[in-house]
Amino acid sequence: MNWHSMTADEVLSKLDSNHEGISSKQAKERLSQQGPNQLESPTKPSPLRIFIGKFKDYMVLVLIFAAIISFIAGETTNAYVILGIVVLVAIIGFVQEYKAEKAMEALREMVAPEADVIRDGRLSTIPAAELVFGDVIFLEAGDKVPADGRILEESSLQVIESSLTGESQAVEKMALPLPERLALADRKNMVFMGTIISQGNCRAVVTATGRGTELGMISGLMKQEQAEPPLKIKLQQLAKRQAILVLVISAAVFILMFSRGLPVVDALIASIALAVAGIPEALPFIVTLALAFGTQAMAKKNAIIRRLPEVETLGSTTVICTDKTGTLTTGEMTLREIRTYRKIDVTGAGYDPSGQFISNGSRLDPAERDLARILKIGVHANNSAMERGNDGWRVVGDPTEGALIVAAKKAGILDRIKESNNRLVEFPFDSERMRMTTVDEAGGEGYTVSMKGAPEVVLSHCTKIMRPNGTRPISDQDKRSILAEADQMAENALRVLALAWKPISINDLAEADSIDSMESGLIFAGLTGMMDPPRKEVPEAIRISKMAGIRTVMITGDHRLTARAIGKELGIGNGEVIEGAELDRMSAEDLCEHIDEVSVFARVTAEHKVRIVEALKAKGHIVAMTGDGVNDAPALTAADIGVAMGRTGTEVTKEASDVVIADDNFATIVSAIEEGRRIFDNIRKGTSYLLSVSFAELATIFFALALGFPLPLLAAQILWINVVAEEFPAIGLALEPSHSDIMKRKPRDPREPMPSRTLMIYTLGTAAAIVAGTLGLYITTLQSNADVSYARTVAFVGLGFFTVYNAYSSRSLQESVFSMDPWGNKTLLMGIGLSILAILAVVYIPFMQFIFETRPLTIESWALILATGLLVLLAAEIMKKLLSKWR
Ligand code: ATP
Repeated sequence: MNWHSMTADEVLSKLDSNHEGISSKQAKERLSQQGPNQLESPTKPSPLRIFIGKFKDYMVLVLIFAAIISFIAGETTNAYVILGIVVLVAIIGFVQEYKAEKAMEALREMVAPEADVIRDGRLSTIPAAELVFGDVIFLEAGDKVPADGRILEESSLQVIESSLTGESQAVEKMALPLPERLALADRKNMVFMGTIISQGNCRAVVTATGRGTELGMISGLMKQEQAEPPLKIKLQQLAKRQAILVLVISAAVFILMFSRGLPVVDALIASIALAVAGIPEALPFIVTLALAFGTQAMAKKNAIIRRLPEVETLGSTTVICTDKTGTLTTGEMTLREIRTYRKIDVTGAGYDPSGQFISNGSRLDPAERDLARILKIGVHANNSAMERGNDGWRVVGDPTEGALIVAAKKAGILDRIKESNNRLVEFPFDSERMRMTTVDEAGGEGYTVSMKGAPEVVLSHCTKIMRPNGTRPISDQDKRSILAEADQMAENALRVLALAWKPISINDLAEADSIDSMESGLIFAGLTGMMDPPRKEVPEAIRISKMAGIRTVMITGDHRLTARAIGKELGIGNGEVIEGAELDRMSAEDLCEHIDEVSVFARVTAEHKVRIVEALKAKGHIVAMTGDGVNDAPALTAADIGVAMGRTGTEVTKEASDVVIADDNFATIVSAIEEGRRIFDNIRKGTSYLLSVSFAELATIFFALALGFPLPLLAAQILWINVVAEEFPAIGLALEPSHSDIMKRKPRDPREPMPSRTLMIYTLGTAAAIVAGTLGLYITTLQSNADVSYARTVAFVGLGFFTVYNAYSSRSLQESVFSMDPWGNKTLLMGIGLSILAILAVVYIPFMQFIFETRPLTIESWALILATGLLVLLAAEIMKKLLSKWR
């Protein structure tokens, strides 16, 4: 269909739609006919697939092999035990993976793209996957086009279509029909899925979705792969290295048993069981589980992880570079002060439109010339609107503009200005231009140009100034004193905008051939000062980050003095500020030299952000950088952690980010870092725990045989501890809540190996204590009681209990078990409870006694086990003390 050669109305009628879009009912019908607006349906592994997948695991295959050997050798009981254990392994593995997959799915849904669409005549935001043909969508700078569409109307629209056409320059778009035979790149009245709006805005009607779009037709080749977390890869390698060690020891055990004249099959099965036990198979899982649960917990706290591997980096952050407006501050702006040729105070709070204008102690009539002009410019050069919600008044759109609308409402003139106004042209605001200009046809007044923006920028476009008795040319002295006034306001932490205007005749309008002629020769009307109070949770978050060795750097487009005042209030930096213009004059080396002394950057643009990130990285920092604007994407990509704002952020910034902060709040970034540290900590704990148990099992068997004693644990017993006693608490460890010292430690060096040297020493130390305890129990019992099965039971219970205890103690690798909150991790307690029950079941349920060849224990043996347990406990405590000394 040649949508581009039809008029907008023809397209709409062909698609059975109109300028107000379609109804939700029509949308539902169309969605069920054409399917979701997705390039490919994401592959979700079905629960059955996950379960069957478990039988392909290395461990399960080895166990099945062991079962077959048992069958062949006629040891059917043993074979059934092993098969039973295979099923258990598969079930536990399935539960772990299924839970992780569910959490991941929830995460994927959270980061799914959205679209602004007009349905039932109202603008609403829906998941982009639900778009159908005929939907009228609204697109603006920073949006990623969610489907193909024909433009109905546009304002200064420019689109980057490089993903489709290879052309990196932005293309100017239009709404008029075009000739029929045109290449894709020349269809300037169409927007295409996956391209990016770089400037302006438009309404478009959706002409194709999903695979029917231009992108859909070529997208077979483009698959998005989620990289594996580097940590997971490191741990997989660790498990492989461990496998070699295990093979050597298992072979040694086999030879030892064989040389003692034990049956080959028994020796083979025992060494296979050992091989299974010795490999910490659950390791990569612990990573997935800790990441999955951790990111879910983060999402609950409003931080949504887009790239999983970066969670590791998050915990190592040393600098957070943050925007000011809306992130450190509430972004709820209230106009406080107006300065024309006199000072006018504005009363009232928030967006509630009640308040007064006071000058020299008396109330002003809003119709007074200077005030009325300021308010009028503020409403003209404005794209925001006020709405009354259930919980009071709200502003839709930019809060800076909202403050001006609210002020006009306070004066009671908002509706009148809006009704009589007809906007002809808009030159939109962006952080580079630092101004917004409109041309309007205002009832009774003819045509006017209205500009608002940063004072120095607006003043540079003014040639006249309003005075009480008319206008006169503006002098340099005037400009200097206005800027001094703006500084004074900024020092009081006010956000200052200047407003200017000029009347323009219809002839001038027709002849004006560029933005420049429209934006020149303006009359300066006055300054407005807005209050944007800091968020109340921010000072505490900054204090916590300081303690955690993380520096906060404020990067703002706002005025240097406003930035400094807010910085002072929040405890950021030492009062020194670098401005964008100064940055331009600095070389990369200069910047690097100063970067550690300056924590506030003002009047900066997106390009400066990239330079700041680079300088910080050159100094060895791990940098998290926030962004919301369309131009912020390069800075977010350059940073180690790109943080996009969920509310004010554009789709493009979100796509370039690693983390999306749903509430735009700085404090959320700090709590995400804390969560990142917790996740990493839990992975360390899980690794240490699983490795120490594996080492302990290997060493116990090996040393017992080497010292000439009979096999201390039977194959089934080893497997039972490995599969049941060990695995349940591992899930709990992945969920351990953060301990009080987590934000008191310095950031972790991301180059540190995993496991680190200290962690390895701790792990081997605890393993040694467990081995000594288990062997000690086994040998003492053997010597006092001739029954090997009894001694094995003591060793089995001892090893099981020490393992369980080790899980509990691993909750913190720094803190003593006595200072931890005993109820702090209920899942772990449940896991420990299950493990203990499983161990007791083997010892006391008659039919299990038969299978596992165990005997019920006497009180004396229990006392011995518990007393040895105390020694193991003591050893772990000493290791913790030593470890904290070494770090
Ligand atoms: P931050 O970068 O911390 O979010 P910011 O919002 O002040 O701070 P920008 O949005 O880049 O940064 O704004 C830069 C300057 O442009 C502001 O200080 C203000 O003077 C001016 N400005 C901001 N919003 C508007 C707007 N909607 N219309 C006109 N001028 C604006």
